[in-house]
Amino acid sequence: MKLIIDNIDIISMDEAGHFYRDGVIVIDGDTIEYAGAKSGLKADHPDAKRVDGHGMLALPGFVNTHTHVAMTIFRGYANDMALWDWLAEKIWPAEELLTGEDAYWATLLGAAEMIQAGVTTFADMYMFMTQTARAVEDCGIRAVLARGLSGPDGSTDERHREVEELRTWRTRAQGRITTMIGPHSIYTCSRDYLKVCKGMAEKHGVGIHIHLSETEQEVRDCIREHGCTPVRLLMELGLFDLPVLAAHCVHLNDEDIEILAESGVRVSHNPSSNLKLSSGFAPVTRLLERGICVAFGTDGAASNNNLSVWKEMTLASLIAKGQSGDPAALPAKTALRMATAMGAKALSLDKVTGSLEKGKKADIILIDTNKPHYFPKGDREVNLVYSGYSQDVDTVIVNGRILMAGRELTTIDMDRVHYEVDKIVSRILG
Ligand SMILES: [Zn+2]
Repeated sequence: MKLIIDNIDIISMDEAGHFYRDGVIVIDGDTIEYAGAKSGLKADHPDAKRVDGHGMLALPGFVNTHTHVAMTIFRGYANDMALWDWLAEKIWPAEELLTGEDAYWATLLGAAEMIQAGVTTFADMYMFMTQTARAVEDCGIRAVLARGLSGPDGSTDERHREVEELRTWRTRAQGRITTMIGPHSIYTCSRDYLKVCKGMAEKHGVGIHIHLSETEQEVRDCIREHGCTPVRLLMELGLFDLPVLAAHCVHLNDEDIEILAESGVRVSHNPSSNLKLSSGFAPVTRLLERGICVAFGTDGAASNNNLSVWKEMTLASLIAKGQSGDPAALPAKTALRMATAMGAKALSLDKVTGSLEKGKKADIILIDTNKPHYFPKGDREVNLVYSGYSQDVDTVIVNGRILMAGRELTTIDMDRVHYEVDKIVSRILG
């Protein structure tokens, strides 16, 4: 079955940065067959289903490179606290009461929020990951899942069983699920255990997703305990031999940045969470200048408190300018690339998604630009980053399937999700 999006302006995010005015996108099953000018389209496809894209702008879907999606349960629960107090006093005790079924409904809530914000792929690290996988299968979004690991402690074996079970999901959900190994951080994992995690990643042929250098305290404690920074520690343990997705990277010295660049580590920048937990400002401009792949993450809804990559994109660009005193820092074009193509690269999915071009999976969002804040229609990328909102996303397609049309979700029963989530919250949080 073919799907054609007609009369559509296209920001392709391909290498050359093509923009097509009044173009066309042809989707064959789950794959983009053509995206470009109407004049370049060879066949007519009279039997295809058609979507009129007039007044819309097509983009590759946003990529959320770091979240804990089931933490939507804890949205609004604990606020105005520093990371360590927030985790130890509030989040970890509440998480003790979570069940797998809770995680399923909480994931659907987070997936609904992400789809409505134009996110078509997310990278997650949390508990009950097979339940998250089940929700991903049901709602149609794309995900890179990692069972959060810390240790060693008494529950390590059970978690490793979950890691093995999660691996079986890579052949399900029409190939929309890939996996990573997710050691939580250097302050919740011992040196030996980090090496165990590396071994698991090698065995599974996947990369590593880890929180890194998020707070000043993490760096200070690491230097006291291990005699080096968290970045140097991971390098010395050999973790950077594998593809590594490092979330936060707020507190880095010059040598750290050099190590990250030389090792090809991908950085997930989470400005809302870093601001809200008062963790600091990541040196994004310097990382980009050094050629490091930096993409956006929202972190969990308990520390953001949204799952909108668009919000992170706008915020990151403004912070970079304000912090550096350079208004040219993190321009709109770069921010939009970080939210899409570089997001896909950060998750090793750049052959699959992140741009609108022939052969990529059809992960496409249509933005309704027929709104006052998009006029006059000058530079589309500037308007998106500095004027646009997540709520402007009208249609979302993942793997060729329409997950939202006219802002109506097609795969998630929101009344049921709200009902289940309310029930869970009153059980856990009272
Ligand atoms: Zn996180």
